Amino acid sequence: MDSQPVADLEVAILGAGMSGLCMAIQLQRAGIRDFVVLEKSAGIGGTWWDNRYPGAQVDVPAPAYSFSFAPNPHWTHRFADAHEIQAYQQRLVEQHGLLPHIRLGRAVVEAGFDAEAGRWRLRLDDGSALSARFFVCSTGPLSRPRWPDIAGLAEFRGHLLHSARWPADADLAGRRVGVIGTGSSAAQLVPAIAPTAARLTVFQRTPNWILPRLDRRYGRLDRWLTRLPPYAALARQAWVQLLELGRRGFDEGTLARRLMTRTAAAHLRRQVADPALRARLTPTYPLGCKRIIYSNDYYRALALPRSGLVTAPIQAVTAGGVRTADGHEHELDALVCATGFDTVRPLAGLRITGLGGQTLDQAWHAGPSAYLGLTVPGFPNLFLTLGPNTGTGHTSTLLFIEPQVAHVLACMRRVRREGRRWIVVRADVFAAQDAALQQRLAGSVWSHCSSWYRDGNGRIFAIWPGFTAEYVKAVRRPDPAAYELG
Ligand code: NAP
Repeated sequence: MDSQPVADLEVAILGAGMSGLCMAIQLQRAGIRDFVVLEKSAGIGGTWWDNRYPGAQVDVPAPAYSFSFAPNPHWTHRFADAHEIQAYQQRLVEQHGLLPHIRLGRAVVEAGFDAEAGRWRLRLDDGSALSARFFVCSTGPLSRPRWPDIAGLAEFRGHLLHSARWPADADLAGRRVGVIGTGSSAAQLVPAIAPTAARLTVFQRTPNWILPRLDRRYGRLDRWLTRLPPYAALARQAWVQLLELGRRGFDEGTLARRLMTRTAAAHLRRQVADPALRARLTPTYPLGCKRIIYSNDYYRALALPRSGLVTAPIQAVTAGGVRTADGHEHELDALVCATGFDTVRPLAGLRITGLGGQTLDQAWHAGPSAYLGLTVPGFPNLFLTLGPNTGTGHTSTLLFIEPQVAHVLACMRRVRREGRRWIVVRADVFAAQDAALQQRLAGSVWSHCSSWYRDGNGRIFAIWPGFTAEYVKAVRRPDPAAYELG
């Protein structure tokens, strides 16, 4: 891949994950070929490049986890694993000829808007620089691993791992392994590690709601049918609609909510025979507040003879393992932190300066927020994909990416068509939309517990509260009156 610094471009995209690739493909389709995709990792895929721990899978049915314009006849299961998804992304890159546009192993460290020229000036970690009229940050909310703030972590002499930075050569077979965390990542990696570990100890701070995972293998017929565009479109749409029904499960008093809560309780009863263990695995917060987990084997892995669940709070990590508040020393050879991501500061490490010298950190002093998750007042020609309040707990994130990309393209086209230098969201329009959103989120199911959807002050900054269709409608075509041009 080209290692020369590039000069003046039309668009710079940050991140070669799902949303960055979608942006690149649609730019090309729109006839804009003067763009670069800058990716800090050594490979393509974003979260699917980073999250390659054993058992990593998506929990959305694969037909809905494919772009509408790129059905994938290669899925082997309804729930695709990380390798299959990364291979899908790799194929997208090849089929759309994106390779010459992608610079791997390049992080942007500084981006400043030059209002005079109407261009973003970027500085990269290798000292090179480039400028681009439009800057699209497609880094997603789950790109920066969060290590737990536990005393002594650095003292641990065994193998210390994070689920989101799994080394390809990690071998935990025959080892005494500890796992901190019980979120989606832990629920997938625990069953993958448990059968071969000498001993597996899961340190649980909060139990989670778990629903069965209705997986099935895709056979030759499925794959043949998916090659027929009308079938692929129909199958995708059927899943989209079914998942949309699940959104009701987040509203109190709905039939969907009752069904989901009862199913989760029955799942726990069926899979965990020991009433004491069952009690420790029963959540004390309402279903949906944290991300719901879909698993058929997590509970079973905990019930294996060589597995143990520890609910006493962790006091410290020591050279030889973990000490819990009950005074117990858990001796470990390896400690896995499945402790999630720093979602509160999604673009930390990158200084972004907009109009009047204001940095994005300053604009976000009260937490990340953006107009429809996409644009920030004072930051012209800057776009975020999968930005604040565009996360979803019930459906495929790809359904949010496609309209976001359409919105960004429409804004770019307008600047070009009208011969202007920049476009920026109006501060009053943003403020009104953000206030309405926060009002809607107050008292919602997501306000009843702590999670990566909320910051330290309890503000819910990561999740979209409504149905997907509502978001798509609001975003696909930008309201011309919401933006100012310069
Ligand atoms: P997470 O949901 O944020 O879970 C982190 C876990 O670590 C929680 O159980 C948390 O406990 C625990 N933890 C954090 N700090 C701790 C500490 N100091 N001491 C003890 N426990 C601590 O992270 P994740 O599991 O990586 O998942 C993040 C998101 O990634 C998911 O919600 C999902 O959106 C996505 N994901 C999706 C899939 C998929 O199947 N599609 C798979 C993996 C991840 P508390 O709950 O008490 O804070």
